[in-house]
Amino acid sequence: MQRTLSVGVRDGLHARPAAQLVRLAKSFTSAVVLERGGATADAKSPLKLMLLGVKEADEVTLRTTGDDAAAALEQIAAFLGGAEAGIAPAPAAAPVIAASVAPTLAETGRRGVPASDGVAVGPVHVHAHPGLPEPLGRIAPEAAPAEVERFHTALADTLASVSARAGTLPGADLQPIVEALADVAGDPEWARLVEERIAGGADAVAAVLLAGTDVAGRFEAMDDAYARARAEDIRSVSRAVVGTLLGWTATSLAEVPAGAIVVADEVTALDLSGAPLERIAGFLCRCGAATSHAAIVARSHGIPAVFGWDEPLERLATAKVVALDGTTGEVHLDPDAATIADFQARIRARQASVAALAPYRTISPRTRDGRAVTVAANIGSLRDIDPALEAGAEGVGLFRTELVFMETAELPSEDQQTAIYREVIERFRPRPVTIRTLDIGGDKPIPAIAFAPEDNPFLGWRGVRMCLDRPDVFLPQIRALLRAAAAGPLRVMVPMVSDIDEVHAVKALIDTCRADLAARGVAHGRFDLGIMVETPAAALLAPALAREVAFFSIGTNDLTQYVMAADRTNRQVARLCRPDHPAVIEAVRLVCVAAAVAGIPVAVCGEAAARAEMVPILVGLGVDELSMSAPAILRVKKQVTEIWAVPPEARP
Ligand code: PEP
Ligand code: MG
Repeated sequence: MQRTLSVGVRDGLHARPAAQLVRLAKSFTSAVVLERGGATADAKSPLKLMLLGVKEADEVTLRTTGDDAAAALEQIAAFLGGAEAGIAPAPAAAPVIAASVAPTLAETGRRGVPASDGVAVGPVHVHAHPGLPEPLGRIAPEAAPAEVERFHTALADTLASVSARAGTLPGADLQPIVEALADVAGDPEWARLVEERIAGGADAVAAVLLAGTDVAGRFEAMDDAYARARAEDIRSVSRAVVGTLLGWTATSLAEVPAGAIVVADEVTALDLSGAPLERIAGFLCRCGAATSHAAIVARSHGIPAVFGWDEPLERLATAKVVALDGTTGEVHLDPDAATIADFQARIRARQASVAALAPYRTISPRTRDGRAVTVAANIGSLRDIDPALEAGAEGVGLFRTELVFMETAELPSEDQQTAIYREVIERFRPRPVTIRTLDIGGDKPIPAIAFAPEDNPFLGWRGVRMCLDRPDVFLPQIRALLRAAAAGPLRVMVPMVSDIDEVHAVKALIDTCRADLAARGVAHGRFDLGIMVETPAAALLAPALAREVAFFSIGTNDLTQYVMAADRTNRQVARLCRPDHPAVIEAVRLVCVAAAVAGIPVAVCGEAAARAEMVPILVGLGVDELSMSAPAILRVKKQVTEIWAVPPEARP
């Protein structure tokens, strides 16, 4: 079977989406092949997929052959269409490594590629990888089998240590990156390329280096910033395997002194995975792009970085002190006293603006006229808990449980779900946690549930509609939620409601599950049941629905697309898909009025909750809680304290 389609995955199939696609393809027994511009790739090989260089909006043909070819075609086509929710947002637009950089700024100051915002000045810490053997080793033909075995043992050891690191990484950003690198290292295509070189007379070290250089070169030759940045992944993986073969010990980043500027040819995500990031004041690297994994990690940890610095490491290593501005790319090697003073003043100014938000961590914000507005976190997995708590989240306003279901090939068991939901509740206790029941549908692939093809998946079998038809999926989740509710305050909400009967049906299932648990003597608690208001039907029926549930949470992402009849993933209609459109604001107003009349709280958990221009509108309309991803929380808390909830003409 085959289908030709335009790729909607943001920024194309770079490492993480390629890894996600490979996982999806591997969940089918059918062969899956992707074709782009006459070249083809096995979709079960991350390396081949990335080398295909598929970019957003490219036309590709997807071919599936085998017993489950139809389901594979549907789900993978949906993924390629951009419907997958778990793809991390792309970092900001991509200045790529430039061989020649901008002209001299001042005597010692020049510009590199700005890779991560912020200003730093500090002593140099040179991060150099051990030298590679020269000349590269050769072997006799009869030694090849033993050399192949040596390579596979080293590869397995490297994979084990990379996977072990992936499990212990701080923050949500590094883990998927390292997992994606582990996928590349474990790709049979990569092993084949190395074995080919061993058969040609190279020893294992030489074969890994040659295969790595070849593949990295192919990535570097691509006409796409993201693909070129993947050369870093390949070099990183081959260096790690060579390190295992040669018995190298951990990289020098483990010893970096506090406040140092790391100066290197290249820093990779693998280097960073073992590094004490809190001690690093900045990065200055010769290679690397703003789209590299190292840049992504630096940005999410707030470490200023300048890449693409066109000077040999030997010269950089002679500098004692570096001052750099990761926003402009300005760099000074051994700056004079006036430049150091200027950079220190800039650092203080930046710290002051960050510090100005810090008090909001512990504040429960009130508007200037005294209305409390809760600012909570949207989370998608246990990894999001720490950043949310650090940002001062006053609970969880939306836990998207889809990820729990997407991460496994089988449906997660009731026990597995109970453990996850319980952990979220325990970590946030006594603050309330709002968990959304499974919101999955024809627009989002999930390996364990087969979806028939739909012409309009956003208008199709998704959210509560699917759950009510699939008690085998829904009942274990409800039982898990009831069991987890014993651990602390829990609110559960149902997505995509468009009819009161759906609420009645969900309530009946909750009663059944509760009776079942009680009959079996299984400990459980109670939760408040709410609904997401995401459809025009729910907004129009809000007065009646408000009498049925304990709270509303407005999903402005979907509510906007349905009110405006403008697909939220289609850039051509983005002009219409705006939460500040009067029609959407009127829908929100109807819901807030209905909630106020019934005396139930109303939250907003769509993207609009974090938009500066929407916060006063939503609070003014009567919204009680705004829920958003962690980085926006402090800013929104501060904004809440600066607004009047009641407009002047309505004030008594
Ligand atoms: C929404 O629709 O606003 C929402 C929060 O749900 P999701 O983005 O997961 O569809
Ligand atoms: Mg939604």
